[in-house]
Amino acid sequence: RLHNLVQELKGNIRVFCRVRPLLAWEKERQKGLEHLHFPLQDNKALVLSKVEEVSPGTGASLALSFFDRVFSPACSQEEVFEEIALLVQSALDGYHVCIFAYGQTGSGKTYTMEGPDDMGPETMGMIPRAVRQVFQGARELEPKGWQYHFTANFLEIYNESLRDLLVGRPERGAELEIKRVSQSSEELHVPNLRYVPVDSEDEVLKLLQTAKANRSVAKTALNDRSSRSHSLFQLRMEGWNRSRDLHSVSVLSLVDLAGSERLDKSFSKGERLRETQAINTSLSTLGLVIMALSNKEPHIPYRNSKLTYLLQNSLGGNSKMLMFVNISPLEDNLSESLNSLRFASKVN
Ligand code: ADP
Ligand code: MG
Repeated sequence: RLHNLVQELKGNIRVFCRVRPLLAWEKERQKGLEHLHFPLQDNKALVLSKVEEVSPGTGASLALSFFDRVFSPACSQEEVFEEIALLVQSALDGYHVCIFAYGQTGSGKTYTMEGPDDMGPETMGMIPRAVRQVFQGARELEPKGWQYHFTANFLEIYNESLRDLLVGRPERGAELEIKRVSQSSEELHVPNLRYVPVDSEDEVLKLLQTAKANRSVAKTALNDRSSRSHSLFQLRMEGWNRSRDLHSVSVLSLVDLAGSERLDKSFSKGERLRETQAINTSLSTLGLVIMALSNKEPHIPYRNSKLTYLLQNSLGGNSKMLMFVNISPLEDNLSESLNSLRFASKVN
């Protein structure tokens, strides 16, 4: 509860930065990290030097970016999760929680959210850890009279259309649309999407594997479209405490966003151009929604993209949000890293 109070004082939006390490093959080829410095006393600032060289006239302010937390390349998945565990746990208290990973392709979004392809207990990402935390938390609340019912869903948004990642082959004609649960309800859902009742973390982990398999099929068939789509995992939990006559409903959403790299429109044609436009629109809408929320503006442009519309109930109001800004350590990626920092300072 103290944690919740602290959150209230800080506002409900936090932005974390994570710089991934150089990979083995990159170490061989690149001098690498020279341009990034991490003043680790407070874990809150990321300094990109050489900014003047790369984009003259942009000023030193861009070079220094403040976050709620900065994770250096040496930080483990466990250390990262420690910083979000309480946030995840608060979903059981009835808060909607949304966690995003933003960054260019190759910056470590999927590693952070899911883990690497060959993941083990140590390299497991935030999604499986969050799932474990929630089920463990629910068990601990049982003696206090709480009982929970969980459902999971996992979808992909590509070119502003939705695809169920828990279904192997997209069923023809089953267009996925966002609808109100009922006319009197503000809650949104996607008829035809699989909302799977789950009782344990193992059941959810199996669903995560199904989604991964379905995604990698699409990867070979469509030339890695996963980097150009958003993937959204949601765990909905409904809790009852009959002895105290309490009831809560909340959704924990974890989003691996499409790569934020600037794709040059003048070089894209046809399908590729549509993709580029869809990604640009949905990422900029997300930024605008977060800004509008933090400025407490009366109109929040949720409807301008599928992702924000789908998350309408989970962003704003009684909800907490965390954005990971993933950064590549490669010098070649410096201008994209700067773009990511710019986005981060807008939403922070
Ligand atoms: P993205 O999803 O942003 O495109 P990935 O998560 O696929 O990026 O990361 C790119 C590569 O870097 C992958 O091979 C991944 O395993 C590796 N990687 C990313 N972050 C880390 C990390 N923190 N520690 C070790 N390897 C990482
Ligand atoms: Mg990825």
